[in-house]
Amino acid sequence: MAFMERMGDTLLSMGKDVSQKAKDMSGIAKLKLNIRSKEDFVKEQYMEIGKAYYERHRGEDVLEKAQFEQIDEALEAIAQMELQILELKGAKKCPGCGAEATETAEYCSVCGTKLSVIVEGQAEKKDIETDIELNNKDKQDSTDEDLV
Ligand SMILES: [Zn+2]
Repeated sequence: MAFMERMGDTLLSMGKDVSQKAKDMSGIAKLKLNIRSKEDFVKEQYMEIGKAYYERHRGEDVLEKAQFEQIDEALEAIAQMELQILELKGAKKCPGCGAEATETAEYCSVCGTKLSVIVEGQAEKKDIETDIELNNKDKQDSTDEDLV
């Protein structure tokens, strides 16, 4: 009988161990999840601080100059590619509010800013390599005429 009792006690304590272990495991999982969400939060804050720092000290002789230049380049590349998308879509961007307008629109439908009209046929002459120069030239009508 004593044996059976001991056996019962052992099984009981084993059961306790198992449920305790399950509790520990779910506790660990919860903690890990909590850690990850806090880490995500910290990362977001770091990013915001970094962005604010970049914007405040852009063009300055900062310690992170190389990284700043890489960001400048990436942002410039993004802007160029977005312009390329607009051109491929036959659209342009309003300099006033940034809204998309058709290539032939004279005024922005959102804010009413007068838009420079791109002469038909010019778009075909443009290719990806010369987009950077041409985008600057778009703002100077005299240079555009020289091109034609
Ligand atoms: Zn606009």
